[in-house]
Amino acid sequence: MHRGRIFVVSGPSGAGKSTVLARVLSALHDVKFSASATTRQPRQGEQEGVDYYFVTTEKFKEMIAQDAFLEWAQVYSHYYGTPAGYVDDALAAGKDVLLDIDVQGARKVRQKRNDVVYLFLAPPSLQELERRLLGRHTETEERIKVRLEAARKEMSAIPEYDYLVVNEMGHVGDAALRVQSIIEAERARTTTMLKIWGDLVEPA
Ligand code: 5GP
Repeated sequence: MHRGRIFVVSGPSGAGKSTVLARVLSALHDVKFSASATTRQPRQGEQEGVDYYFVTTEKFKEMIAQDAFLEWAQVYSHYYGTPAGYVDDALAAGKDVLLDIDVQGARKVRQKRNDVVYLFLAPPSLQELERRLLGRHTETEERIKVRLEAARKEMSAIPEYDYLVVNEMGHVGDAALRVQSIIEAERARTTTMLKIWGDLVEPA
């Protein structure tokens, strides 16, 4: 059995990451979503163990001390981290794993591993992002300002990523399809395929 791969997906909140990733996960076999641990409060509709593991700051620090994270970062004054155990188990079982993490987290993963594919999901513009954040009615104006500033910073990291997918308003299906195609293309790489189909090549 071949080992799966990690696909990191970053992008400003409001770019539609969760909607796009939900579509990808329901369309593709053998792709697992790694729910992060976070110290932020659950939003309406978010499920423990599905969207996130909601933990106390004390518990989060305990996990850092136990080296339980593949990476972790502080985002908007809360802690977020990727539990290493889940990722390792899924990869060993031959599953690909999607990580929805920020730019800082992606940089930390890059320092640790050299077999990861990096995708950036961007809104068509910052103005469009502002419109989406205002439309969600989940944040105060002050928080939206903070998020927009963070988005500007995150988007300056786009050149660090292997793939850029722009999620255009009303075309979430297209963005999801593009992410799926990237995953499929990476799966079809000769180096990956020969781990499964090595017998196809006769020794020269
Ligand atoms: P939200 O609170 O809107 O769900 O997420 C805020 C930001 O935290 C998003 O950019 C998301 O990608 C990032 N994030 C979520 N989980 C993790 C994680 O485990 N590690 C890091 N570094 N960032 C994360």
